[in-house]
Amino acid sequence: DNVFLLENHIPKKVTFDDVGGLQDLKKTIEMKIIKPFMNPGLFAKFRKKAGGGILLYGPPGCGKTFIAKATAGECHASFYPIHISEILDPFVGVSEQNLHHAFETARGNSPAVVFFDELDALGFSRSKSRSDVMRPLVDTMLNELQSVETSNEKLLVIGATNMPWDVDDAFKRPGRFDKLVFVPPPDREARKIIFQLKLSGRPVENGIVYEILADRTSLYSGADIENIVELASEQVLAEIMDGGHERPITMDDLLDAIHQTKPTTLEW
Ligand code: ATP
Repeated sequence: DNVFLLENHIPKKVTFDDVGGLQDLKKTIEMKIIKPFMNPGLFAKFRKKAGGGILLYGPPGCGKTFIAKATAGECHASFYPIHISEILDPFVGVSEQNLHHAFETARGNSPAVVFFDELDALGFSRSKSRSDVMRPLVDTMLNELQSVETSNEKLLVIGATNMPWDVDDAFKRPGRFDKLVFVPPPDREARKIIFQLKLSGRPVENGIVYEILADRTSLYSGADIENIVELASEQVLAEIMDGGHERPITMDDLLDAIHQTKPTTLEW
């Protein structure tokens, strides 16, 4: 009934093992987010505040949503992805209600990770003039963040954006989305692992050389690689259904699929 909540629970548990590469990012999230979230008592003892949220930024398709979901998996928490564009409503006050309702739903199912995609769509940096229209919604968001920060709610808030420079400055203050973390396009080693992850469980020939696949996909995002694997799988399936003999996915199928696609991180 909540159209703005894409999924109410994690359909399949995703953990850091499902995320290829991004070792430094995983370490940062573990030390700054997961450990404090799981051990609030310890932090209190040392008079350290465990809190504040992270703002993930970087080109599309490189795993911002995926790592947020994996963070929920690591915390044994439910995952609530919220798209700002789906919260917005032209009627006065309804967007604010939608946002509050989304937080309430997550509170009702805590521990939970609330994930905001496109945070730049909410409010504007001071340099922009349209911020007045968004002010009430920005204030609602700040109130909710304040409540998470000052109470003992088992909620973790993670934001993401492709345009960090457009995120309202008010969100970047201490206790809010105060840790700005870059999620880079996968490097060669990460691309190799992402190919392995996405192909695992599918029939593949023995001769797959993952190093070559990684070499041929520089500037491809994780989502682009997932797309290559889907495309190759579909083409082999189509061939089999067209009367061909059943066979696994080959290196040639994957190289063909690479040729048919383009890296998307270039446009960022
Ligand atoms: P956007 O900015 O467009 O929202 P995003 O950075 O949030 O993009 P995701 O939605 O997390 O990107 O990634 C899309 C898909 O690509 C994921 O569902 C996942 O399957 C795959 N993917 C991306 N990066 C990785 C990675 N490092 N390891 C494994 N899979 C990945």
